[in-house]
Amino acid sequence: MVEKKKKGVIFLLIKARGIPIWIQCLEALLRLLPQNHRVIPDINRNLKYRRKGYNGEKSSDYYANLLDKTEFLILHDLSLFHNKLHFQIDTLILTTRFLLIIEIKCLEGELYFNHETGQLTVSHHQTVTGADNPLIQALNHCTQLKGWFRDRKMIEVPMEHLAIISNTQSVIRCSNYETARHVGTDKSLPLKVMELSKRYKKELLTEKEVKRIAKALKKVHSPQPINILGFYKLKPEELLNYIACPNCGYRPMVRFRGYWHCKICYVNSKDAHVGVISDHLLVKGNRITNLECRLILGIDSLKLANKMLTSMDLNREGKTKGRRYTLKLT
Ligand SMILES: [Zn+2]
Repeated sequence: MVEKKKKGVIFLLIKARGIPIWIQCLEALLRLLPQNHRVIPDINRNLKYRRKGYNGEKSSDYYANLLDKTEFLILHDLSLFHNKLHFQIDTLILTTRFLLIIEIKCLEGELYFNHETGQLTVSHHQTVTGADNPLIQALNHCTQLKGWFRDRKMIEVPMEHLAIISNTQSVIRCSNYETARHVGTDKSLPLKVMELSKRYKKELLTEKEVKRIAKALKKVHSPQPINILGFYKLKPEELLNYIACPNCGYRPMVRFRGYWHCKICYVNSKDAHVGVISDHLLVKGNRITNLECRLILGIDSLKLANKMLTSMDLNREGKTKGRRYTLKLT
């Protein structure tokens, strides 16, 4: 966290965007499945789509960061929980006058936002399909965030919403002017924010309060593990155990004199287990016991597995045999 106080201004970079959990899980799953597994083409397709979305978000972040940081405090990729539901906000902008929720989508073709039906249709290669409408998503998130504020008896601040289409080649059409005010491209993001900002003149929060809200939101930010095995209808037994050699790919590497050793190319590695344990955690719902760790790595020593797990900066739950380790998701 970088914090610098200027005269009467907010300058606080409080939450950057990390690699989305979906991408991390899909990449981990690819490393744990045999190369000829039936779901690999599906995973690759999904990964391509998610990476495109992530690149769109990063591109939008670039333009969001052009905004005057003395006025706009920006939180990227926020996972919150309200009313028994998790929701994920792509970008939240906080000011002393209003809050703004931005949903970012990377869509190709001609997009039409219909304000009467709330539908977004996409015309591409002579086919017309419906798509998740980021405007409706942003509006729903506004309702959930308002509820989150109410539960904590925090001051009610007006909330605005904005949908950003990060693909510059797509053509955007809206059914009316009001809808068009809430839709833009990544490049037009600063302009759109400034335009919406003009509607809110009254200072409702102090800069201190804005910072306090941002800190409170960051504190409860809780990304959820994804049930990726369930998503692809896979059984844990289908995953490969043991460590693959980082040099030649041979599996298993064996433990020899404090190193992981490859019998084929003679490469040694001190920490090849770290990636493999992380991959299994990502794919298996983010929990692992000492016994599971030994099975994955192909080692017998409880003490060695314990040493490896405790050196990995994982969360720990429970005691002795039943102790579970989880990744600190950010
Ligand atoms: Zn090797």
